[in-house]
Amino acid sequence: MILFNQIIFGPIHSRRLGLSLGVNLLPVDAKICSFNCIYCECGFNTTMRETPLPTREQVFEALRIKLNQMATEKNCPDVITFAGNGEPTLHPEFEQIIDDTIILRNQYCPSAKVSVLSNATKIHKPQIFKALNKIDNNILKFDSSIDQTMKLLDQPAGKHITVAWLIDHLKKFEGNLIIQTMFLRGEYQGQKIDNSTPEEVEAWLSAMKAIHPKQIMIYTIDRETPAHQLEKLNVTELNHIAEKARQCGFDVSVAG
Ligand code: SF4
Repeated sequence: MILFNQIIFGPIHSRRLGLSLGVNLLPVDAKICSFNCIYCECGFNTTMRETPLPTREQVFEALRIKLNQMATEKNCPDVITFAGNGEPTLHPEFEQIIDDTIILRNQYCPSAKVSVLSNATKIHKPQIFKALNKIDNNILKFDSSIDQTMKLLDQPAGKHITVAWLIDHLKKFEGNLIIQTMFLRGEYQGQKIDNSTPEEVEAWLSAMKAIHPKQIMIYTIDRETPAHQLEKLNVTELNHIAEKARQCGFDVSVAG
């Protein structure tokens, strides 16, 4: 599994986002997340870690130096992406860090978008909701509209995280969000899993209609996963799901 060993990483060419400069607000030696997705590229959660979260000041300085360098080289990123070793909104100074990032972006690379990849488990907190509303790409995970599947795929830490809870809170962005859905099939702990069946896609589309995101990104497995009996969907299958969503009027991108 891959862990990011710095606060700022890249830039990397992202399938979904273009030239992307990454920001990791989690420790550099462990993954911490309020989900424990069976497909997570960082592996399963661990309680072992020796390094603390980076401070707001450390993030500011690391980002300032990198953006200054990229601007000087006339190689600004298309996007500054908060992802890294877990869930970025778990950082206690997340809102302030977003404010700092917008200031630095405006100063050094004004055309760069600010993106956050989040699992949506903290969007009920006013400061997180406010921060996500300030950025360009508020990308929130929604993997299944059927509780049993969502719980098996994402393994949320909080019992309060249900599909109904997620839909209810995602609706509050009033369309100012991008939904990201991982489609896969396989088996985990003796249970079959497939969020691409007609029943799943039908339920997922109903949720999309309730949430009405400005964009939907669908993708499948790209790298090694912590659960080993998982399969990626092929591009034709992803395109078939995308087409169904487009017929409902959604702007959909596919990364196969
Ligand atoms: S939400 Fe993201 S970081 Fe967290 S376990 Fe799932 S894939 Fe990994």
